[in-house]
Amino acid sequence: MVRWLLCSVWLFATPSYGQHASLIYTDEDANVVKTAMLAKADKDVRAFFADTFGQTLENSIALIGTSDPRLLNVHLSQALKEMGRRQRSSPVDAATLCDNKPIGAAANRSYTVMCWLKPTAYDREWLALIEQQLPPILAHEFTHQLQYHLANDDPPQRINGTKELLLGPSWMVEGTAEVFERIYSVQVQGKDAADTADQALFNMQTRARRSRLTLTQLTEAGSTKGRGGYGTARFAAFVLAQRNRPEDLLEYFTVLGQTKDRGVAFEKVFGLSFDKFEADFEGIRRDFAATKKYVKGQ
Ligand SMILES: [Zn+2]
Repeated sequence: MVRWLLCSVWLFATPSYGQHASLIYTDEDANVVKTAMLAKADKDVRAFFADTFGQTLENSIALIGTSDPRLLNVHLSQALKEMGRRQRSSPVDAATLCDNKPIGAAANRSYTVMCWLKPTAYDREWLALIEQQLPPILAHEFTHQLQYHLANDDPPQRINGTKELLLGPSWMVEGTAEVFERIYSVQVQGKDAADTADQALFNMQTRARRSRLTLTQLTEAGSTKGRGGYGTARFAAFVLAQRNRPEDLLEYFTVLGQTKDRGVAFEKVFGLSFDKFEADFEGIRRDFAATKKYVKGQ
């Protein structure tokens, strides 16, 4: 009995839920319900990647979730300290990350931070809603953790003989995370599950069709932020995933870690150069019939 009590105290008092689980950090306020929600999302996302794609992570990752942006860096600092990791040189811009959106999230090599709008009450309705909204976003962030891991990018690596960071281009990094976020919401949550393959492809194309941003512009900017960036990156990665397999998006990061050359890795996995794919992409991004052929490898 005493041992059981000690054990349950230990479970609630420490952020650890054992191996192959993230270390959870959240607010004092409604701590039990927030911790349980984050732990379940973490477990579900990890199970999805393990069962569907054979991908697991064994390194320590902190999952920080808060409804108070002012506490985000407090939790993060505590997590880094307890994990023996170096503190950030500047705090996460919690206002930009959290403001005016249902859920904000970001990932780095040893942590994922998430924030959500504070509800009037942490009741069943809140739980039902956040259990729909949060896990696909966590799947997106988990994809970033996988990218770091597969590319052996902790600490951040550079391209052979240059000062340029290895992990990229930005449209592959974000597009891949967007694709796995979507696969999670369709396969695990049944969202848009009734859509035909054509409908899904058409919907994915919509944002890329409207945007004028090219993949080169996204690569040069080093970011997909800004108008149409995410939609373009998502569609480009989706096309590659359809033409090959979603797993190949991850394989690109593995080969990138081995070769330390983006072009070589892309060519090896997808059988064409970045330039050729970009030219192909400009040809299909506004042409649905051409896209349908392209994803079939024609
Ligand atoms: Zn992302």
